Amino acid sequence: MFAPLAAACTGDRRTLGAMPSASPVELTPAQRRTLDVLGAAGAARPVFPEGIGARLRAELEAGLAEVVDDLAPDEVLAISKHKLAQVHACEARLLAEEADDAFEVTIPIARGTVAHKAVELGIHWRGEPLPLVLVDEAMASLAATDHWLTDFLQTCTEAERAELRSTASDRVAKFFECFPPLEARWRPVTESNQIVELCGGRVRLRGKVDLTLGSPRGMQAGKVVIDLKTGAPSPLHRDDLRFYALLDAVRLGTPPRLVASFYLDLAEARTEEVTEGVLEATVARTVDGVRRLAALRAGTTAPVHRPSPACRWCLAIEACEVGRRWLADDGWDDLVGDADEP
Ligand code: SF4
Repeated sequence: MFAPLAAACTGDRRTLGAMPSASPVELTPAQRRTLDVLGAAGAARPVFPEGIGARLRAELEAGLAEVVDDLAPDEVLAISKHKLAQVHACEARLLAEEADDAFEVTIPIARGTVAHKAVELGIHWRGEPLPLVLVDEAMASLAATDHWLTDFLQTCTEAERAELRSTASDRVAKFFECFPPLEARWRPVTESNQIVELCGGRVRLRGKVDLTLGSPRGMQAGKVVIDLKTGAPSPLHRDDLRFYALLDAVRLGTPPRLVASFYLDLAEARTEEVTEGVLEATVARTVDGVRRLAALRAGTTAPVHRPSPACRWCLAIEACEVGRRWLADDGWDDLVGDADEP
């Protein structure tokens, strides 16, 4: 995938094809580091055993067969990385959030979607990908289509629009500071949906990957799955990526070779090689999470409280003795003051 460029990037100047520009592109140390970490030059491209995708699917279906009994006759249980993370965190919070249907779009929620759309446009942009231009195009596109952000973008105040534009463009600028222009032959794919249907379509696993590069050859892995992140690294991000790797392995029959959380504020990637062991562990985590979610929704099990610093931002905190006690015992209030949720 990256081999030709990565090998050539020891020089200072380079002309790259996918994003035309008026002059040769000079890569920054951060961009060269991205190539070194995510590129295929010198990296292992493991060959997975024939049938691994079918085997993983069979393991998922065997583990989830009993879940179907908890579903209503026409119900399809849809599972995302977010839902899995919720159920493996505090189950009481998950139920409280599911009972609260007052979803309100805020600037922090909207900026991620706008920034991702802008990065997607920028990767395929003919000309210099200027962050504010891309953000304006992304906001215009989302405002004109049938999207959950459309209403917000059509009705927000000028101040909200300006703040959204500012924070989204920060993310977009950082992406292009960290990534070199992506050549078409690396097969960059943005905002790629993944769907795996199990148990006769009654359980649906869904993912949406920010960026993938490369592709497999037969059973030889070649794809890199990348999640773009702001803020600080978290072990949860690794679990999200493992879920994406599992979906890809079941869909395509060949797993990715690498998953990476790319931290835009840090300008660096945290990677993990995809192995059979990683995929098996992810099957177990997924089965466990889906079983718990189905049982919680059906009311056949009591939710487990798992207090953590996240109690501070939990909508159930007023009524949750466990969370209030944990925060008081931990002295968290004294430590963080009035900090906002990360
Ligand atoms: S306050 Fe904490 S323990 Fe209570 S439901 Fe919320 S996250 Fe769970």
